Amino acid sequence: MTNLLGLSPAALADFFAQRGEKPFRARQVSRWLHQRFVDDVGAMTDIGKPLRERLAGEARIAGPAVIRDSTAADGTRKWLLDAGSGNAVESVYIPEDDRGTLCVSSQAGCALDCAFCSTGRQGFNRNLTTAEIVGQLWHANRTLLAEGASAPWIDHGRPPVTNVVLMGMGEPLANFDNVVPALQLMLDDNAYGLSRRRVTLSTSGLVPLIDRLREECPVALAVSLHASNDALRDQIVPINRKHPLRDLMAACQRYLPAAPRDFVTFEYVMLDGVNDSPAHAAELVALVRDTPCKFNLIPFNPFPGTAFRTSPRTRIVAFQQALQDAGLVATIRKTRGDDIDAACGQLAGQVQDRVKRRLATRIVPAAAARAPGATLLP
Ligand code: SAH
Ligand code: SF4
Repeated sequence: MTNLLGLSPAALADFFAQRGEKPFRARQVSRWLHQRFVDDVGAMTDIGKPLRERLAGEARIAGPAVIRDSTAADGTRKWLLDAGSGNAVESVYIPEDDRGTLCVSSQAGCALDCAFCSTGRQGFNRNLTTAEIVGQLWHANRTLLAEGASAPWIDHGRPPVTNVVLMGMGEPLANFDNVVPALQLMLDDNAYGLSRRRVTLSTSGLVPLIDRLREECPVALAVSLHASNDALRDQIVPINRKHPLRDLMAACQRYLPAAPRDFVTFEYVMLDGVNDSPAHAAELVALVRDTPCKFNLIPFNPFPGTAFRTSPRTRIVAFQQALQDAGLVATIRKTRGDDIDAACGQLAGQVQDRVKRRLATRIVPAAAARAPGATLLP
């Protein structure tokens, strides 16, 4: 049976066309699914009974199964969701004064093996389906509304989730074929109706797929930079060996004319003694000279077994100042939900068939206190 939550706007239209229904049916059903968050075809009261009965026999509305539900002291909410076969992924809701952001996962685990990331440390299990990606948004909205969540925009009739960031577990561009239909639903007026600038995809830098995203569904782009030169980035973001900084910068520049914002966000995790010196900041300024961008400095969030440490606050602030002095916009990301391991890079979920991976502990952060360009591995 088809899970209706996984059908893109075009696929839902096809689904009804194949059954001899008019196009407005698809729009009507889409609103029931993605704006009223029903889980039962029988609840779609403005659809005639014969069609409802037929749908009940041929389709289902299956949201995620929640394994664990935690709320942090700052109101951040994290759901651990079953991904079958012993796998689980996480989804995090971050309420702020003027918005509610959902951090969405795209894969169970991740194959890209960034040294400082707890998801990467687990290895890769599988891609999430479109229904599993959109289901995170459907579930967060549905649950928060049912609980009577209050916020200025909710009180004005908008759903709890106003912004989506694909910054949970997994590399979204490595699951392109399921992620793009999910993005289309996030943007569609008969589904979530979010503007392109309120949907941000974060990638570690899969260059050819950045180009495809530009062509097929440009949303706001964040790129996980984390290093100011190839030698260092080869070590901590291994995909750099395939797509080095020069190619990545060029892809960002190609993306911008199609993007909903006129800058790329560069994420930069602050690792004590690894990438946080004044020399790194100077090198970074030169690197991005021709790429309109903003920097988001992320204090490293530790997880069990990692050898990395967060840069001291004074060094993060000095790094920010160095970027600002060069005319760049640089913010320091506020850590949210760390008491429930919901902060960036702490999402672990669970992956059954763990691929044995190089441990981050093999990288000796102290060795990197040398000049930029110094290699980290013995
Ligand atoms: N795979 C994508 C999106 C998921 S990770 C990507 O890498 O961009 C979202 C962000 O959190 C990325 O910038 C990632 O590098 C960062 N991150 C990973 N582990 C982290 C950690 N332990 N502390 C802080 N940020 C981390
Ligand atoms: Fe994968 Fe992103 Fe983690 Fe790297 S930082 S291992 S790309 S989830």
